Amino acid sequence: MEYYGSSIGKLIEALSSLPGIGKKSAQRLAFHIVAMPEEQVKGIADALVDARTNVHFCRSCCTLTDGELCPICASSKRNHRQIMVVENSRDLAAYEKTGRYDGVYHVLHGAISPMLGVGPNDIRLKELLLRLQDEQGEAQADEVIIATNSSVEGESTAMYIVKLIKTLELPVKITRIATGVPVGGDIENIDEVTLERALKGRTEM
Ligand code: ZN
Repeated sequence: MEYYGSSIGKLIEALSSLPGIGKKSAQRLAFHIVAMPEEQVKGIADALVDARTNVHFCRSCCTLTDGELCPICASSKRNHRQIMVVENSRDLAAYEKTGRYDGVYHVLHGAISPMLGVGPNDIRLKELLLRLQDEQGEAQADEVIIATNSSVEGESTAMYIVKLIKTLELPVKITRIATGVPVGGDIENIDEVTLERALKGRTEM
């Protein structure tokens, strides 16, 4: 990479450290960036640093937010006694896009995977158990909807969560979303229709 000079070489290296960006894409992006107006580049750099500095986990659901509570947890319009457990904030966003869910979420930030060395303590499980009951042991939810992926990791995480919640012996219904079968139409709609179906077709565990 030396023939580019060290600044552009460093930029290519930095960009290629991002997920899904190979050397070729990093090169293309780097050349695009150096050709952009300086103000625009500064805007991107500021947005990167700003997001990294201000974004943290919501105190209640662990999604990424810049307030103490995310807008969903802070909303009085949501049903705070229905908690949907998802693997990451992108899944949360996908369910929000359907506009058909008015409960709240719990974001695990991963799934249990012995293969990848991800254990129960590496995801936000403890936080979920904590919010299910108050200090007196009173249940703080009526239903926990487990919406982890239908991958091997997602399924075993779901099983593990069910087992954990059941040991608390709370009067909380535990449900699992149905595995969606894609229907015809364009991709964006497939996702929303499938998610909505998966939510409607959930079964008790
Ligand atoms: Zn939240």
